[in-house]
Amino acid sequence: MSSHIITPASSRPSWRIAVAELAQETDSFSPLRAGISEFASYGLYRGAEILERMRGAGPIGGLLEVAAEAPRPLEFVPILRAWAGAGGAIEDATYGQLRAELLAGLRAAGPLDAVFLALHGAAASESEDDIEGDLLAAVRSVVGERVPIAVPLDHHANITRRMAANADWLVGHETQPHDTVATGRKTARLLFRQLSGAIRPSVAWRKIPLITPQDQFLTQAGPMKTWFDQAREFERDPRVLDVSPYPMQPWLDVPEGGWAVVVHTDQAPDLANDIARRMAELAWNLRDEFWRSERLGIPDAVRTAHAADQGLVILSDTGDSVYGGAPGDNVELLKELLRQNGPGLALVPVVDPQSVAAARAAGVAATITLDIGGKNDTAFSSPVRLTARVAALSQGVTLDIADRGVCDIGPTALLECGSVRIVLMAERSFAVNHPSLYWHLGIDPSDARMVVVKTASNFQFFARWRRALIRVDTPGTTQSNLAAFTWRKLPQPTYPLQPMSDVGFL
Ligand SMILES: [Zn+2]
Repeated sequence: MSSHIITPASSRPSWRIAVAELAQETDSFSPLRAGISEFASYGLYRGAEILERMRGAGPIGGLLEVAAEAPRPLEFVPILRAWAGAGGAIEDATYGQLRAELLAGLRAAGPLDAVFLALHGAAASESEDDIEGDLLAAVRSVVGERVPIAVPLDHHANITRRMAANADWLVGHETQPHDTVATGRKTARLLFRQLSGAIRPSVAWRKIPLITPQDQFLTQAGPMKTWFDQAREFERDPRVLDVSPYPMQPWLDVPEGGWAVVVHTDQAPDLANDIARRMAELAWNLRDEFWRSERLGIPDAVRTAHAADQGLVILSDTGDSVYGGAPGDNVELLKELLRQNGPGLALVPVVDPQSVAAARAAGVAATITLDIGGKNDTAFSSPVRLTARVAALSQGVTLDIADRGVCDIGPTALLECGSVRIVLMAERSFAVNHPSLYWHLGIDPSDARMVVVKTASNFQFFARWRRALIRVDTPGTTQSNLAAFTWRKLPQPTYPLQPMSDVGFL
């Protein structure tokens, strides 16, 4: 229960809103662990620094953008901002520390009118499979039943019973690629209307016993567009406040794992329930569409890229998506590029701090023989031995990636090996899929025939040069062949891992 008396909102001239973010996307199959240094590398902020640093970035940036629209002045109580991108499970000690810090901040905050808590929705620690549910239950017990808790989420979240029971708002992104600022704005505006007494949310939700690979995750086309467009269509009814589809990211092996939809209406529980059922049925009816894929096998993909016309071919290394939590050191695609050594220049990032150190020790212009990659992702890859020239070295630079905040490229080394240019990275930086990685080493992406990206969805940074996109069917901890993983906790049955007859969503 609440540890302090809550002054009714109406008796104060301003609204006091606690502001926090604790977010990471966990890849259950990744051998990595996320410690406090991962959070620090994306900006671990406390107190007033949060409001300064997050202007224009992330869901908190969205809240700040629309603050002036609130019918009363807002008094923010900024507590903690911790984001760690995507990776392996969060270390228990790190989660315990951040959780304790957030709850202590809420206890010390004094009377609050609301909590704005940005979460990912698919975070797990070494021993907690449902971090968001655990956190929201704890926050609810600190602030009490009467204080609204508004939660902007990544739409690849896994919605759980504890999350639904303890939040007033669970609002997901409307697009892939993610527009985190827009989700912050949408959530904040709904919260302001609730605080002013204009609306009262009725929430309904459904789990959908489905997982699918990332191949159809973009919302501009295909079945994902159909599903998300339907959500926007339902929102045209003024009684419908938010319809959030949640196609869970497919590498989360947890007991409540699976897709979901959450619907918020204005005091219309039957309508919320009906829309949730219809949204669940639509996703279920499209289930085989969501499994459609145009992936090419590795040798085919490399041959096709070399044969392409002028312009840049993006080779999506789907199995080793750093943005999905993979280590970024799977070199199975690199091995084929070296084997074919075709005419077109190929740019390839590999996260391998040991090889960066070896290249630095050798120095620029040295020729060295190295075993590259395959050191973390040992289940799906193995190192590749090569002899290459060290063409450039960098200590790294800090990048401002617009609405995602800042990131440090970290130390890098550029290797030349035939027609392949390998950028060795010491860290799993967000820059792994950004042209700055090449620019800062003196390479112009427009000179290249192909670039390997360690993502299956975020190709936007290379959009200006893009000639073609090839999704490569690579192995790895974010591979699209979901049936090849050993699932231990996911509910059974989940389509299509177990045979299922039709499902009712009543
Ligand atoms: Zn996402």
